[in-house]
Amino acid sequence: MHMLIKQIMMAEKVGNSLNHKKLEGKVAIITGGASGIGEATARLFAEHGARAIVIADIQDVLGQNVAKSIGTEQCTYMHCDVTNEDQVKALVVSTVKNFGQLDIMFSNAGTITEKISQTILDFDLKASDRLFAINTRGVVACVKHAARAMVRGGLKGGSIICTGSVLASFALPQSIDYVMSKRAVIGLVESASKDLGKYGIRVNCVSPGGVATPLTCRASNFDSVEEGEKFFMDNSRLKGCGPLKVENIANAVLFLASHDSLLITGQNLVVDSGFNAHGLTKAD
Ligand code: NAD
Repeated sequence: MHMLIKQIMMAEKVGNSLNHKKLEGKVAIITGGASGIGEATARLFAEHGARAIVIADIQDVLGQNVAKSIGTEQCTYMHCDVTNEDQVKALVVSTVKNFGQLDIMFSNAGTITEKISQTILDFDLKASDRLFAINTRGVVACVKHAARAMVRGGLKGGSIICTGSVLASFALPQSIDYVMSKRAVIGLVESASKDLGKYGIRVNCVSPGGVATPLTCRASNFDSVEEGEKFFMDNSRLKGCGPLKVENIANAVLFLASHDSLLITGQNLVVDSGFNAHGLTKAD
C-alpha cells in the first residue's frame, strides 16, 4: 500500500512537471499573429505564462481583437508590415522599451502568390517580388533586429523561430516562388544559428505541412475549413490522428521557444502528418 501511494505521488510529480508553464516571465513577438498559426501560437504562449506577447501584423482589426480576447495585460497588438525594415526595427525597439527584454521572436508572417500559377514558363517576377519581400526578406529583417536586441540585452537563451514550410523540401512546379522563398528561410536559419550560437541565441525553423488556415483556404479555393482539412488529411501518411491543425504547429513552436529545446539550434522541425516522411504523395 505504502509503495502504491509512493508510486501515485511520483506519477503526480511527473504529471505536474509535464504540465508546468513553459514561458513564465518571457517576452515574445509573433509576426503574422492576427490569424492562423500565429494566432494559435499567441494563445498557447499566453496559456504558458508568457509575460508579454506582441502580435505584429497588417490586419489591424483582427490583430487587435486577438490581443483583446487573450487579454491586453498579457497581449498587445502592433501594426508591422514585415516588408518594411523600419517597422520591424520599431516593433523590436518598442517591445524592449515597454517590456524590458525580448526572449522569443516567432517570425511567422507569410503569404503565397494567389490567383496565378507560378510555373517557370509563366513566372510572374513582379508578383514574386511581393512574396519574397514577405516570406524571405521580412524574415531576415525579423531575425536581424530580434538578434540585435537579444545581443544588446545580454540575455542568454534567446530563441528565434521562423516558419518555413514542408514545401521547402519539395519541387512544386506551380509554386516555384513559394518553394524558393521557404527554402531560403531554412538557409537563413542554418547560417544565422551558427553566427548567433556564441551569444547563446538559438535559431530554428518550424515547417508545417498543409493546415487549413485563411491562407490555404484562399489559395486552394476551399469552401470551408472542413474541406481543406479533408484534402490535407487525404494526403497525409499518418492515419487515425485527425487533420493537422494550427494547434499542432503551435505546440512545435512552443517546444522550440521553451527550455525544453535548450540545446537545439539550426534545425528545421517538420510537422506534417508524415507528408514528407517517405517522399512525395499523390499531392505532387
Ligand atoms: P494566415 O493567412 O492565417 O496567417 C498569415 C498572417 O501573416 C496573416 O495574419 C497576415 O495578415 C500576416 N501577414 C501577411 N503579410 C504580412 C506582412 N507583410 N507583414 C506582417 N504580417 C503579414 O496563414 P497561416 O497558414 O497561418 O500562415 C502562417 C505561416 O505559415 C506563413 O509563413 C505560411 O507560409 C506558413 N505555412 C502555412 C502552411 C499552411 O498549410 N497553412 C503550410 C506551410 C507553411
